Amino acid sequence: MKLQLLPAPREIRAVNGASMLSAATPVTVRQSDSLPPEGYELALENNRVLITAGDDAGEFYARQTLAQMIATCGGECGNLVIRDAPALPYRSFLIDCCRHFYGVDEMKTLIDAAAKCKLNVLHWHLTDDQGWRIEIRRYPLLTEVGATRPDSRFGSVTEGKPHSGFFTQAQVREIVDYCAARHVEVVPEIDMPGHFTAALAADPALGCTGEPVAVEMTAGIFPHVLCVGNPEAVRFARDVLDEVCDLFPGRYIHIGGDETPRTAWMGCERCRARMEKRGLPSFDALQGDFIREIAAYLKKKGKTAITWNESLKGDQLGAQDVIVQRWMERKPLTRAFAKAGGRVIESDFYHYYCDYPYGMTPLKKSFSFDPFKKCGQAHAVFGVEGCLWTEYVRSFDDLCEKLFPRLLAVAERGWSGFPTRSYPAFLEAVEALRPQLAAGGIPMRQRADWDLPALRRLPDIVRFFKGSLTPEMLRQGLFPDSGNKK
Ligand SMILES: [Zn+2]
Repeated sequence: MKLQLLPAPREIRAVNGASMLSAATPVTVRQSDSLPPEGYELALENNRVLITAGDDAGEFYARQTLAQMIATCGGECGNLVIRDAPALPYRSFLIDCCRHFYGVDEMKTLIDAAAKCKLNVLHWHLTDDQGWRIEIRRYPLLTEVGATRPDSRFGSVTEGKPHSGFFTQAQVREIVDYCAARHVEVVPEIDMPGHFTAALAADPALGCTGEPVAVEMTAGIFPHVLCVGNPEAVRFARDVLDEVCDLFPGRYIHIGGDETPRTAWMGCERCRARMEKRGLPSFDALQGDFIREIAAYLKKKGKTAITWNESLKGDQLGAQDVIVQRWMERKPLTRAFAKAGGRVIESDFYHYYCDYPYGMTPLKKSFSFDPFKKCGQAHAVFGVEGCLWTEYVRSFDDLCEKLFPRLLAVAERGWSGFPTRSYPAFLEAVEALRPQLAAGGIPMRQRADWDLPALRRLPDIVRFFKGSLTPEMLRQGLFPDSGNKK
C-alpha cells in the first residue's frame, strides 16, 4: 500500500530497508528542546518507531501521523524519517450550534475528526438570533427563554416543530476537557452587539427600545441588537464574559461584531449620548468603540478578543486591540489592519464556508485558496478556519458531508502553509483518510460530488437557493456588504 498522510508533512525522507508496521510496533518517545512548537520527528527503522517531540502537542501529532501510516501502509513499510511542524499556529473549524443545535456526542465526533488532521482550534458559535446555547448562571432566562424557538423556517423549508437545546456548564467543561486531551483549544463565540435576538428575547431591556422580541425562526440579519449606550446592558455583556472566561481556559474569546444593523442605535438617545460623549463620528465608530471596550475588558482578564472584520469599519481598533477574522468585505480594511501589524484569521466566505453546495464551493476551490495572498501580508496571517453554519443543515450526516472534505483542504493549508502537493495527490490522500473518518462516524459523499462538471454546478446551486433563500432575501441582494449570512 502507498503511504498517505493528511495534512502533508513538511519533509519525508526514505531510508534504506523496510520495517513491519502495525499497531503492535514498539514506539519510543523522547523530548527535544530543539523542535518548534507542535513539531515532531518520526523515524521508522528496525521494526521500531522513534518519536522525538518538542512538546506534548508534537507527540500527539506524531501519533496522528503514525495512525495514518498504519492505516495506509500497514504491513511492510519502507523505512523513513518524517520531520514536521505546522506553518500556522491557529488551525480552526467553526461549528454553529445556534441555527441547528448539535449536542455533546456530535461535537465529540467532529473534534476527533478535526484532531486527526491536526486542526487545533474549535471556534464554537454559541449565541445567535435563533438560539442562546450556553448556560449562564447569573442569567438563567438566557437559556430558559433564549434556547427555544417555536418553529424553524429557514428559506422555504418549514420544520413545523419547536427547536431547542443548550450546553450546561458541566457539558461545556466536558467539551473543553475533551478538546484539551486532543490539543484543541476551544474559542467560544458570544456574538455581540448584533445577532443578539435570543438574548433580547430573554431580557428586552438589553435592547434600545425595550420592546419584547421572540427568538428568531428564520435566517437573516435582525435589528435586535445590544444597546451599547446603556451601561446596564454593557455590564450584562461583561457579566456573561466573566462566566465564559471562567469556563474556557484558552487564550482567545470571539466576541462576534458582524452583521450589526444600526437602525436601533439611530433612534436611541442613550446610544447617541455615548457617541457624543466619546466624540464618535459614526455608528460604525460606535461599534468599534464598543468592541474596543469589551476587548480591553477581556485583556485585563488575560484574554485576547477576536472579532469579525466588520468591526474595523469605524476605524477604532488598533493592531494590538484584537485579532480580526476576515470572511467578506468590500473595502480592504483587513489588509490595512494587517499592514499596521494586526493578526488575521482567514476564513474567506467564497472558499472556506463549508455549508454551501459543492456546486458553489467545489473542493478544488477550497484547496486552491491562498490566504496569504488574500491578506496581502503573509506574516499577518495568524490562522485559517473552515466554517460550518447550520441554517440549512438539518441533520448531522448532512453537516459531515458538507464539512468534509472541504475542512481537510483548510487543514492542509493551515499545516503546510504553501501547497506541497498537487490537487490530484491531495484527493488521493482524502480517499485514503475516508475509511478512518468513516470509522469515527464521519460520512462523506462520493468524490464525483465534490467537483461537479460545469453543467451540474448550476442545478446544484439552484437547488440550494430554492431551499434556502426567500424572495425577501433575494430582494435584499445575495451578498450585501453586511451580508445576509455570515
Ligand atoms: Zn441604544
